[in-house]
Amino acid sequence: MKATRLYGIGDIRLTEVPVPTPAPGEVLIRVEACGICGTDRHLVNGTFPSKPPVTLGHEFSGIVVEAGAGVTLLPGTRVTCDPNTWCGHCANCRRGRVNLCLNNVATGLGRDGGFAEFCTFPAQKAHILPEGLDPRHGAFCEPLACTIHGIDRGAPQAGERVMVLGGGVIGMLAVQLCALAGAEVMLVTRQAAKQSLGLRVGAHEAVATEAEARKVWPEGADLVVEAAGVAATVEMAPRLARDGGRVVILGVLDKGERVQVEPFDLLFREVQVLTAFLNPFTQDRAAAMVAAGRLQLDTLISRTLPLAEAAEAILNPARAGEVRAIVTP
Ligand SMILES: [Zn+2]
Ligand SMILES: [Zn+2]
Repeated sequence: MKATRLYGIGDIRLTEVPVPTPAPGEVLIRVEACGICGTDRHLVNGTFPSKPPVTLGHEFSGIVVEAGAGVTLLPGTRVTCDPNTWCGHCANCRRGRVNLCLNNVATGLGRDGGFAEFCTFPAQKAHILPEGLDPRHGAFCEPLACTIHGIDRGAPQAGERVMVLGGGVIGMLAVQLCALAGAEVMLVTRQAAKQSLGLRVGAHEAVATEAEARKVWPEGADLVVEAAGVAATVEMAPRLARDGGRVVILGVLDKGERVQVEPFDLLFREVQVLTAFLNPFTQDRAAAMVAAGRLQLDTLISRTLPLAEAAEAILNPARAGEVRAIVTP
C-alpha cells in the first residue's frame, strides 16, 4: 500500500509499505479521509517531537476491513480514530488525567497513522460513525474533540460574550460550539476571507485586530479562546477578557517560546488563564455531533487532495485563507 512517511526533519515522502496486520485488540481500516493539521507541519520541521520513520496523520476516519483477535467491530463499519492512546496505569492516568498520560502513544505521531491507504489502531480508540456520512466529515472528529475539551474548560454560558482568536479549523469549530451554547461570539482574525467564513458559520461579529475588538465590545469578553497559536494572540487574550473573565489557550506555540503577561492586571481583574490539551473522553461527543450534522463542516474544507499530493502539502505552509485540507487516500 502507499503511505506518506516522515523519515526525518524536512524529509517526508510517499512510499510503498506492506498493509499492516491488526494485532489482537486492534482494527485495520481503509482510510477514507485524513486532515492535514498544523501539528503535521510542526513534526516535519522538527518543532514537535517525533520518532521517525513513521506514517503521519492523526485526524482520520475510514471503514473497518479486518478486526484483530477479541475485537467485535464488524467489517464495513465506518469509524473515526481517537489517536491518543493512554496507558491506563501511569500516575496521571490513575487519577483520571488521561490526556496527560506519561506513556501516550498517539496514532500518526508515535505509531503509523492515516496518511496511508490502510491503518491499524487499538479498537477501543475507534468511534462509530454513520453509514451515510460524508467521509471527509469523519476527519473533523479529532480536532473537534480537542475543541470540545477547550470549550468545556472555558464553559461559556448562554448570553455570555466569547471572543475566538484565530480563524483556523479550531477557531471555526470553537465559534460554532460557543454559538450553539447560546453565547454571543466574535471572531478575531486578520484575514478578511476567514472573517466572512466565521460570520457564515455562526459568529455574530468578526474583526481583524485587538483595537477593533475593543471598539465593538469595550468591556471585553467573558471568555477568550486563543486558537491561533501565536505569541501575539496569547498576549492579547487576557487583555481582551472582561473583569473576572476567563481565557482558554488552545493554540500550540513552539516549545520554548515565551510571551509577556502582566500579573498585576490578571490579579486586579481576576482573569483566569486556563489551558486545554488533547481530547480526554470527548471523542465520542465529537463523533456524535459530526454524525448528527450539528456543525457546518463543508465550508471549512478548503481543498481535498489525493495521497500522492499529501507530502508536498505538508511540507509547504497552509495556503492563504486555507482552513482545512483533507487527504482522501
Ligand atoms: Zn491535529
Ligand atoms: Zn498513562
